[in-house]
Amino acid sequence: MTAMDGARIHITGVVQGVGFRPFVFALANRMALKGWVRNTSAGVDIEIDGPREVLNGFVEALGKEAPPLSRIDEIKVESRPPDGFTSFEIVYSKTIPDAFQPISPDVSLCTDCLRELLDPGDRRFRYPFINCTNCGPRFTIIKDIPYDRLKTTMDPFEMCAECAAEYVDPCDRRFHAQPIACPVCGPQVWLEIGGGRIAEGDDAIQRARQLIKEGKVVALKGLGGFHLACDATSEEAVAGLRTRKLRVDKPFGLMSYDLETIETSCVVNQIEQALLESLERPIVILSRRPKSPIAFGVAPHQQTLGFMLPYTPLHVLLLEPDPGYPSALVMTSGNLLEEPIVTQNDEARERLHGLSDAILMHDRGIHLRTDDSVVQTFEDKVYPLRRSRGYAPFPVQLPWESETILAVGGEMKNTFCLTRDHFAFLSHHIGDMQNFETLSSFEQGIAHFERIFRIDPAMIAYDLHPDYMATRYALERSEREGIPAVGVQHHHAHICAAMVENGLEPDTQVLGVAFDGTGFGDDGVIWGGEFLLATYTNYERVYHLSSIPMPGGDAAVRNPWRLALAWLERAELRLDPTIPAFGVVSDEDIRIVLQQITSGLNTPQTTSMGRLFDAVSSLSGICHHTNYEAQAAIEMEAIVDTGERGEYSFRLEDGVIDPVPVIQSVVKDVKSGHSKGRIAARFHNAVALMVQSVCVEARDDSGIEKVVLSGGVWQNMVLLQKTIHGLRKAGFQVLYHRQVPANDGGLALGQAAVASCRKAGR
Ligand code: ZN
Ligand code: ZN
Ligand code: FE
Repeated sequence: MTAMDGARIHITGVVQGVGFRPFVFALANRMALKGWVRNTSAGVDIEIDGPREVLNGFVEALGKEAPPLSRIDEIKVESRPPDGFTSFEIVYSKTIPDAFQPISPDVSLCTDCLRELLDPGDRRFRYPFINCTNCGPRFTIIKDIPYDRLKTTMDPFEMCAECAAEYVDPCDRRFHAQPIACPVCGPQVWLEIGGGRIAEGDDAIQRARQLIKEGKVVALKGLGGFHLACDATSEEAVAGLRTRKLRVDKPFGLMSYDLETIETSCVVNQIEQALLESLERPIVILSRRPKSPIAFGVAPHQQTLGFMLPYTPLHVLLLEPDPGYPSALVMTSGNLLEEPIVTQNDEARERLHGLSDAILMHDRGIHLRTDDSVVQTFEDKVYPLRRSRGYAPFPVQLPWESETILAVGGEMKNTFCLTRDHFAFLSHHIGDMQNFETLSSFEQGIAHFERIFRIDPAMIAYDLHPDYMATRYALERSEREGIPAVGVQHHHAHICAAMVENGLEPDTQVLGVAFDGTGFGDDGVIWGGEFLLATYTNYERVYHLSSIPMPGGDAAVRNPWRLALAWLERAELRLDPTIPAFGVVSDEDIRIVLQQITSGLNTPQTTSMGRLFDAVSSLSGICHHTNYEAQAAIEMEAIVDTGERGEYSFRLEDGVIDPVPVIQSVVKDVKSGHSKGRIAARFHNAVALMVQSVCVEARDDSGIEKVVLSGGVWQNMVLLQKTIHGLRKAGFQVLYHRQVPANDGGLALGQAAVASCRKAGR
């Protein structure tokens, strides 16, 4: 008989709620090893007896054969004498105070469950809450750890005998699937009109489909919140939804049943296909085919559409193809304007009543709100625009061990971030912090993350802008709880976000090109066109765009023609009615704005690249008034004439980048009747070339070869591509975002990195 040995194994990473214990159970049985496995709040523990070589093989297989949804960080093995186990068992969870472990994001419906959903012989045939160990809700239903049914919103549903039998059978694919449910014992769906319940179960779904087919708007409860759905191929239905949601031009997200249907509207390459079909199921921005059946009103003045595939069984049933049924539905968040997405049934009755004709509800609770994620592809990989459902709360790895830090993020597209060990838990999308509802969603989110990840922040990082709600929260909390707080400059945070996700070590020095709309500068000016020589702890602003008055402050952001006028004044060009920006506004408005520029009243100064895009967009006749963020730049990017090689040139003097020559050339081209597409292209080329020249000059002074691109302007794919091309040609190593957005959605990660390094004295 072989000599017996023993081992104590501890595994960390995403190993709960992903079928890890049954996998260990099956593996141990296959190798005839004895002992037990259990979840703890800190990971998975295994005690096991067996011959030494077999134990070694077991440990190796743990890493190699782990279930698809798990992500192992570490397997710690300790040898010990055999314990004399006679069987292998799964034992109950144990709570270790203060320990934590990563939580799985929500996972889209798996192919096994999809098959059962559509199989008339299956007991879960057409059951909209079918799930298993490999799929279903996770993050949105978890109230606390360890991940057990009693600590989720599935708590009120008592399992029926059949579900209970599956749940305890290690050979069943629903073994310990916490949200396990069936038509007998699980959540139910129903349809409400005007507060009255008019249909149940499959009938409710069929009635909802009928309403959508008739051009109505149906609100439906999804995974992380309610959506508003309507026929995306009907101009009338889409226009109706826009009117009710008070959303004028901002594009809507779309959902189709399968890839083939999406391909009738958009060109989908392999990378995009992989993203559409990934477990995360984000909205993927795709280039639109000219003959797409999608209504123009879905994404006015854009060449792209944002599509996703169904990610819950309810979506599958709602989207099922049928002759005469829309091939695509608008699937937009259930909220008014920029309020947080609705998650509770009562809240839906109140807030979505006026926005929809019927509400498809269910009784599985949503504990944490998450919006759909949005991505596009760049250089054959994912380039995130909004990191939320499916990705959060999976952590970003830090290149160092961090203290516990809370970073509160910015004002627009807010996310917050908590760090611990070598993890940065960047939150789901919170939204624009401009109303009470979003602020409370932010506060609840922070409290929830601190609880589930057992983080007690030793420091709070915040943006320098004194009026940001997040900044106020940080300062108040710092005062109240006696936690030190550290202010981080907005663009420094952007650059550090990109540095940290690229794994740069502390002490690394980079040249950061931070281009965005708005960020509070050291000098009280609104920055946004900055070149920073930066490390995680410090930065020097080596170049920046010359500043320009923003007549009327926020009014200038909503009215790009005001910036056009400011630049014309700076360039000493006369007002000319043939310049499109001035055909659209009254003489009186022009007079007021000119007065603001002269007096400086309610006219902050800005060095923002976003605002320069606005000015040029208006000067060239593309967009004079906006109703969503960055609209003027987005509409300009959409019409760039890709064949155009010409460019304008900036003037560079003493670290200041002056766009006056660019403005003069734009006006000249407008007057000589060049197309908007050509002017847009020349402007994009000019900015890319300017970045290259400035970086070359900065390298001559500093020797730095690493250029980091961050800030919302880098969501402009045309500009990103042209700039990277130029920088690489000049021999630079270019780093940009892959895991978190370049926009303010990634800001908190950078703030956390800065605070962490400063705290450690790095
Ligand atoms: Zn499944
Ligand atoms: Zn059941
Ligand atoms: Fe920003």
